[in-house]
Amino acid sequence: MTIDPDHDDYGEIRAEVRKLCARFPGEYWRRLDEVRAYPTEFVTALTEAGYLSVLIPEEYGGSGLPISAAAAILETIQATGCNGSACHAQVYMMGTILRHGSPAMKQMYLPQIASGALRLQAFGVTEPGSGTDTTALRTTARREGDAFVINGQKVWTSRAEHSDLMLVLARTTPRDQVEKKTAGLSTILVDMHAARGNGLTIKPIRTMMNHNSCEVFFDNLRVPVANLVGEEGRGFRYILDGMNAERLLIAAECVGDGLWFTEKSVAYAKERVVFGRPIGQNQGVAFPIARGFAQIQAARLLVREGCRVYEAGGNAGELANMAKMLAAEASWACGEACIQTHGGFGFAEEYDVERKFRETRLYQVAPISTNLILSYIAEHSLGLPRSY
Ligand SMILES: Cc1cc2nc3c(=O)[nH]c(=O)nc-3n(C[C@H](O)[C@H](O)[C@H](O)COP(=O)(O)OP(=O)(O)OC[C@H]3O[C@@H](n4cnc5c(N)ncnc54)[C@H](O)[C@@H]3O)c2cc1C
Repeated sequence: MTIDPDHDDYGEIRAEVRKLCARFPGEYWRRLDEVRAYPTEFVTALTEAGYLSVLIPEEYGGSGLPISAAAAILETIQATGCNGSACHAQVYMMGTILRHGSPAMKQMYLPQIASGALRLQAFGVTEPGSGTDTTALRTTARREGDAFVINGQKVWTSRAEHSDLMLVLARTTPRDQVEKKTAGLSTILVDMHAARGNGLTIKPIRTMMNHNSCEVFFDNLRVPVANLVGEEGRGFRYILDGMNAERLLIAAECVGDGLWFTEKSVAYAKERVVFGRPIGQNQGVAFPIARGFAQIQAARLLVREGCRVYEAGGNAGELANMAKMLAAEASWACGEACIQTHGGFGFAEEYDVERKFRETRLYQVAPISTNLILSYIAEHSLGLPRSY
């Protein structure tokens, strides 16, 4: 049994990612964390190495690799102690344009996203009033000639200040004029530079970890109709289409976090001597580490199986949801064991354990919370009545 992710699939890519990540050690992340700054150099390095465009087909300038390669990259980033949350959306968000955009839209944006000339990092779905109940969102996009006029508010829009483009889900047909609440929503691509100061205002939200999340306000923001992705009114379906990829990749990140915590725990438990013996000799210390590791390995297999089904064109919904939930819980179990193993030093910033502990907690809430995954499993896998 090993906790070295290099033994796994995509060994060469993993080795290269680890080399790149070694240039961004704990001090780098601690410095940014202190002032809640964006890891620009790290994101630039990943972009230049082509890791953020792995899923973009070669004809648009990406490497056209399958989702399992993206999972290997993101897992490895987290396993080295770095944090891919600053740019992970760049990997999968372009899928909405790829699957549903017109040929002209794909030609215009995908090569620039692949080269890093344009960053598509911001995804505006969640609103203060709707939360998990996405179809209750109130942001509207009203057609006026050759433009949509957007009004409303988003919350928790991560990376909004560090993105050139934002994909926004807005209601284009009022709720009372559509048969189903999932209809009448559209996905619109917003050019952040043109929009800022012309109807778009961004306000950062300070959170317990360095995540660059924001509130975004739309006040009569005009966006060309050409920026509509796919058909008007089908946006909710398009967002759902992208969720399995997002869940699998975030699950892979949680696996990476769990591996990092485990490696840290094992090293410290071997080295720290109390009562004349290494603390790892005590089962009370060793067992939580071992249990977390077992949970991570199980989640990892589920991520891998989810990627396999996704790549085969099957319905990966159940696996992607389960993988995301179990990986987030497993990384948390590993984090908890890591803090406990380190005793007081787990709380000292210079060990990076407390930072990772804060960072990995998010994934039991975002991009979807555990309860909503359990609701999905209850309804779709088990056929129980829908609870909401
Ligand atoms: C740091 C951060 C970054 C984020 N980034 C983005 C982003 O880039 N773009 C974006 O659009 N969103 C983003 N989000 C939003 C995130 O997706 C939501 O916070 C998440 O989906 C939960 O929604 P909510 O916060 O409104 O919680 P609510 O919907 O208010 O739910 C609160 C709690 O109640 C539970 N609950 C609600 N309804 C039910 C039910 N029917 N059954 C059982 N339990 C229920 C939930 O599970 C949750 O635990 C981010 C959030 C955070 C914290």
